[in-house]
Amino acid sequence: MTIRSNPANIVDGIKLHRLTKEALRGNIEALYTVLKFLKSFRIPSFNVIAYLIIYQVVMNVDNDLANECRRCGGICCKSGQDIPLYPFDLEDLEKKLGSCVSSVVKKVGDNHYLPRPCVFQSDWRCTIHQYKPYACLSYPFASEDVQQQILINTSSAPPEPIIPDFCLAAKKIWSRIKLEIDKFQGIYGRAPTPLELLNLLLEKGSTAKQRSQRTI
Ligand code: SF4
Ligand code: SF4
Repeated sequence: MTIRSNPANIVDGIKLHRLTKEALRGNIEALYTVLKFLKSFRIPSFNVIAYLIIYQVVMNVDNDLANECRRCGGICCKSGQDIPLYPFDLEDLEKKLGSCVSSVVKKVGDNHYLPRPCVFQSDWRCTIHQYKPYACLSYPFASEDVQQQILINTSSAPPEPIIPDFCLAAKKIWSRIKLEIDKFQGIYGRAPTPLELLNLLLEKGSTAKQRSQRTI
């Protein structure tokens, strides 16, 4: 998520990425803060981003996707472009790997990447789950490429996500979320706001680490 309206907001954008990473890990307090921040801009595209982040958090905190990832075989970690790393991703990796981090990270100019196939994948699993980068935590609903593609084509919200055919886990999560959106629509005659959707999904028992109802 890049906020370019003025230099002060670029700084906010960097901090927001750090906070969003916490949210993507399942920290619901951080998620509420990110949603409040996005809502404060009153920009429709930020509303779309808020939905995509919620879809992703629901996927990240779900403990019941092992079968789907096993059947897929971990394609998301095997193929594709190198994974971009933010400075805070490097800090997280250093916590796990210490100085060995430089031996697995590729540096191009000032930018850092994890090459794919990723050395941290074992069979279909990630062996550094608590330390994985922002880009991994935002796959596939909220990756920055996907956000840009959806924002080009979507004026309405909640957005239809872009899910690769092989990502069985995301398909399963989206079918659950879509069901809740459709039910809400049937009852109230309108789509839920991002916050309403989040509260609805928490209420329905998505396995979030912290559960609370909040009005922003
Ligand atoms: S592509 Fe999707 S289903 Fe396959 S391992 Fe990655 S998250 Fe799991
Ligand atoms: S860090 Fe983990 S989630 Fe990310 S590509 Fe490597 S194995 Fe996959």
